[in-house]
Amino acid sequence: MLYADYNATTPLDPEVRAAMADALGASFGNPSSIHSAGQEARRLVERARAQVAGLIGAEPDEIIFTSGGTEADNLAVLGVASAAPSGRRGVVASAIEHRAVLDPCAHLQSRGYKVTFLGVDAQGRLDLRALPAATAPDVALFSVMLANNDTGTIQPVAEIANAATACGAWMHTDAVQAAGKLAIDVKKLGVSLLSFSSHKIHGPKGAGALYVRRSVRMAPLVRGGRQERELRPGTENVPAIVGFGKACELARARLESDTRRVAGLRDLFESQVLACVVGTRVNGRGEQDLRLPNTSNIAFAGLDGEAITINLDMLGMAVSTGAACSTADHTPSHVLVAMGQSEAEARSSVRFSFGRDTTEGEIARAIELVVQVANLLREARP
Ligand code: PLP
Repeated sequence: MLYADYNATTPLDPEVRAAMADALGASFGNPSSIHSAGQEARRLVERARAQVAGLIGAEPDEIIFTSGGTEADNLAVLGVASAAPSGRRGVVASAIEHRAVLDPCAHLQSRGYKVTFLGVDAQGRLDLRALPAATAPDVALFSVMLANNDTGTIQPVAEIANAATACGAWMHTDAVQAAGKLAIDVKKLGVSLLSFSSHKIHGPKGAGALYVRRSVRMAPLVRGGRQERELRPGTENVPAIVGFGKACELARARLESDTRRVAGLRDLFESQVLACVVGTRVNGRGEQDLRLPNTSNIAFAGLDGEAITINLDMLGMAVSTGAACSTADHTPSHVLVAMGQSEAEARSSVRFSFGRDTTEGEIARAIELVVQVANLLREARP
């Protein structure tokens, strides 16, 4: 299979698999047990915590392990909102957040919180001019993603964090797509909370983390133990955490070489598809091209993105029309709609996302297949 859906998930790195195999075997102890089997498991969890912290410039004790990005986002939004003082019942998020942020925000809205969604421009970048109106003393939390999953557009998170701090609110960023593709330093970004996920960076599914700066006041979503600073109690998923730690270590070591190589392949793919298929345009690529290096979201005017996706799949190429969690409901990408596109325009788009294992040969084949399918569908139009 020609896999071009790395934003949905990534294959397990062989080194991650090897690290997990060890943790699945002899090191089966409960990290909370005081005997040596327990302490060996604890050692593995704490080593992984340091590896995870290293990817984002955090201290190990600021890392809370979760089951993935969705849980980390929920914990950030709901955990901060529910611990906020009664005078701070406001949350500000961007309109292009993943559902893992949007749905908790909608939940808060239904419970009487004031939630403000900030719009984006045609490139998918948050419009900073809307920020002053949103920065009010009753805001508890700002949540704006570091990079978007559909278009790869990178958001001005440091600027938003400044505004959040100035009005006494906490700043959360969903870095699920950015991790492993951009250099991240929580201190430089000025964020107090940051979510990321193991399976997007060649680690196992079912592991993720929320960075929580020490000063943040928040409440847990589940109760029942002392693990993870009592913010995420429950016996740790040690093999998945070990794999996540290894994946972070590899992502950090390979960041520069991986991203430089993948960006070159992505640019080649884009330029060839645009040159060979009429009516194509890249979503989210503005003049400055502030995008993730691996993502290419292409609109095929007059064609149906889903038809392209299905036809490519029949030819052995995996791509996507948007977030994996919203493909089942056939709605057009809310991200492209927020960028001002009509439903028809948004439906004509396909997301291609490449990664560590993508080869030059695969890119050549991907160009061939996309051109073939798009031209075939165009000819078949009534
Ligand atoms: N946030 C973003 C931006 C994502 O792209 C995803 C997954 O696609 C998530 C959150 C959810 O992460 P997970 O699949 O680990 O629950």
